[in-house]
Amino acid sequence: MGKTFWKTIAVCLASLALGCVVVYLWWQGTAVKWADDGAPSYAEAHLLNKNPWSRPGTKLEKVNNIVIHYVANPGTSALANRNYFNELQKNYRTGGTTKASAHFIVGLSGEVIQCIPMTEVAYANHPRNEDTVSIEVCHPDASGKFADETYQAVVKLAADLCRQYGLTEEAVIRHHDVSGKACPLYYVEHEDAWAEMKEAIGASLRQP
Ligand SMILES: [Zn+2]
Repeated sequence: MGKTFWKTIAVCLASLALGCVVVYLWWQGTAVKWADDGAPSYAEAHLLNKNPWSRPGTKLEKVNNIVIHYVANPGTSALANRNYFNELQKNYRTGGTTKASAHFIVGLSGEVIQCIPMTEVAYANHPRNEDTVSIEVCHPDASGKFADETYQAVVKLAADLCRQYGLTEEAVIRHHDVSGKACPLYYVEHEDAWAEMKEAIGASLRQP
């Protein structure tokens, strides 16, 4: 066996090692990372203060469905909607009775804000708050249709949550499916658009 043989072996081993590094880096880059409470770490946590109107602190024991909503307030940001939920803590002074919140809000640029830890219930899906995770979605106009960047982020978030809870896209439902409310409006008025979104969630779920 000459030098050429060993050279070939060395080159093969070096290529293999390099290949492994490249695959590892790719996997690191694409794999979802999870925060301690089980939320995807790309969700920016702006947790609400604990209060009886938007963050009761009730333990979320199990998750059977992921529920999609629309904020019904065209052009408002994810953070503005989060702050609205947080301000409900002032109900004790104002005498207000509104109870509302959501685990996540997806914004107009596709940003994801987390309001409630995954270990606690949110007030979005009455009477199913005890076994659901909720996603509120911002939208540019009164039609309630999500902007492209928002849509992509909702699909990814819903798929990642399905992955986290061992669910399929069939477990992703609309607020409408819980209580009959026209929410998320555009995807209640356009069943085909809703079917398409669920298909996209399924496709995202089946990606490696
Ligand atoms: Zn809703």
